[in-house]
Amino acid sequence: MDSIQAKLRQLPAVDRLLAEISTDINIHSLPHGLVVTALRQVIGETRHLLLQGHDADISTRSIVIKAKNQLLKQTRLSLRKVVNGTGVVMHTNLGRAPLGERAAAAIKDIVEGYCTLEYDLATGGRGTRYAHVVDRICDLTGAEDALVVNNNAAAVLLTLSSLAKGREVIVSRGQLVEIGGSFRIPEVMEQSGATLVEVGATNKTHLQDFSKAINDNTAAILKVHTSNYRIIGFTAQPDPAELVVLAQQHAIPVIDDLGSGTLIEMIAGGWQEPTVKASLAAGIDVVTFSGDKLLGAGQAGIIAGKKQYINVMKKHPLLRAIRIDKLSLAALEGTLLEYQLGTALTNVPVQRMLHASADSLKQQADQLEELLSELKDDGWQLAVVAIQSQAGGGSLPAVGLDSYGVSLNIAGKSAASIERFLRQWHVPIIVRIQDERIVIDVRCLTCADMEIIQQACLALAKGE
Ligand SMILES: *Cc1c(COP(=O)(O)O)cnc(C)c1O
Repeated sequence: MDSIQAKLRQLPAVDRLLAEISTDINIHSLPHGLVVTALRQVIGETRHLLLQGHDADISTRSIVIKAKNQLLKQTRLSLRKVVNGTGVVMHTNLGRAPLGERAAAAIKDIVEGYCTLEYDLATGGRGTRYAHVVDRICDLTGAEDALVVNNNAAAVLLTLSSLAKGREVIVSRGQLVEIGGSFRIPEVMEQSGATLVEVGATNKTHLQDFSKAINDNTAAILKVHTSNYRIIGFTAQPDPAELVVLAQQHAIPVIDDLGSGTLIEMIAGGWQEPTVKASLAAGIDVVTFSGDKLLGAGQAGIIAGKKQYINVMKKHPLLRAIRIDKLSLAALEGTLLEYQLGTALTNVPVQRMLHASADSLKQQADQLEELLSELKDDGWQLAVVAIQSQAGGGSLPAVGLDSYGVSLNIAGKSAASIERFLRQWHVPIIVRIQDERIVIDVRCLTCADMEIIQQACLALAKGE
């Protein structure tokens, strides 16, 4: 007890610590109050440890280091770049689609100054934010008109609220989709004020199921792309063109929530993602899809289809609440331009990564292994391995994309501890653990990312 009391008395005072820490160039410019709070907190924690009978370093040096680390954490941005070594291309937790250079440049060009967001250069008068992308969307999809909002969840909500509030919407029981946590078709339907009418069975829904459900109060038929699951085996859904004919007989629209909504053919592992163009060509009246899934732009929801329906949405009060901001709009326009120029497969990162050939991925994995090869002398086991990546983000469900990666383990270190080290690197590196080994999938890595991995691994080997 005596020694605890003695140690408590020896804890350095804030003033002394301040004198020590404030000469540090990184701390010098920080507000005095922030520094004092950090010091007090570390002193408090140290005192607490001592009172509980634990040993604690009470040297000025140790307390200053801890306070500096804490200040570093507080003053560092929380939303930061990471290296995606998971191979999941549209990783929702890691920000979904990385932008291409043109989209990033479009943002950079407008972000620090003013821009033509709602200004018409031809007339010098007011314009609309939608004008920048609507013609491009129509050009790429064959739609009559289009609208863009904050995200696809908002696009579905606006579509249903505008076209079906207070009336019924028919959906197949096989398509009552839930997307990552909070987006569920039945709940969005409820929010919109429309009444969900479920028809068919989980595995099979026939045209007749829809036709039997249509009555005077039916506002629309909703198709939902089962973007993150598959129903296989004994299954059926009516052909979209048949649904369109049925809906036309009753003068109601067919709405198609495509979710990922690709602009170009996307086939992998025997699974084909429906294109927006094909859906509209089949006569679907309104299509909704995400900007940051297969399209590869920023967060956005795109609504494309017949003018008569889009016009109703343009006047809906909800539109203002869910409108797209200028940064996402710039990313969207820059990305759409790549598709118009025919350069999407190389210049839109999501498309490039999804279409990367097994050969080029193997080469990239060889390069990464080469970058790390000097670590083999330090007891590291490295190997290039054939693995499967995932599209993620509600696309190509249950399809494994053939990929390559580098697996590593280190004698005397658990995979979990290596994973943690990489995750806490100054540019966090997110990897998978497979059979007690770290696996870094190269599909989503740039050359710069590979160098970051090299630096982190060298530091790990040196015990930094
Ligand atoms: C992803 C998805 C949504 C939600 O789109 P967000 O852009 O994430 O809001 C809605 N419906 C389907 C079918 C989806 O796949």
